[in-house]
Amino acid sequence: MGKRGVTGARQVNCKHENFACDCEVNRLLDTGRFSLDVRVMCIDCGTPFRFIGLPAGLDLNGAATSVDATEGRFAIAPKGEVESVLEGGDVGFSIRKVLWPKPPNNSQPPQCS
Ligand SMILES: [Zn+2]
Repeated sequence: MGKRGVTGARQVNCKHENFACDCEVNRLLDTGRFSLDVRVMCIDCGTPFRFIGLPAGLDLNGAATSVDATEGRFAIAPKGEVESVLEGGDVGFSIRKVLWPKPPNNSQPPQCS
């Protein structure tokens, strides 16, 4: 069963090759902070894309998504008000469990020297 794209054309088995992106910058008056909200959709079939790996909600010091994950919400600030990593700002990292590719059965863990 196909879906109708923004042009109204029915698309079956869409390969999602053409996109529209909608961005909005918000000034959060009560906090004096800023956020960038981003939405992406396939313009051939109208399917919205979801942001992967981010928590739902609003993070004024990072990134999050709407509850349905179709809107990415990114904390932003004017250059000069927040240090980049190159300027000595916080260096963040995350650890993620990856389910693929499955290692061969005879694989050995990496050895440290
Ligand atoms: Zn599509």
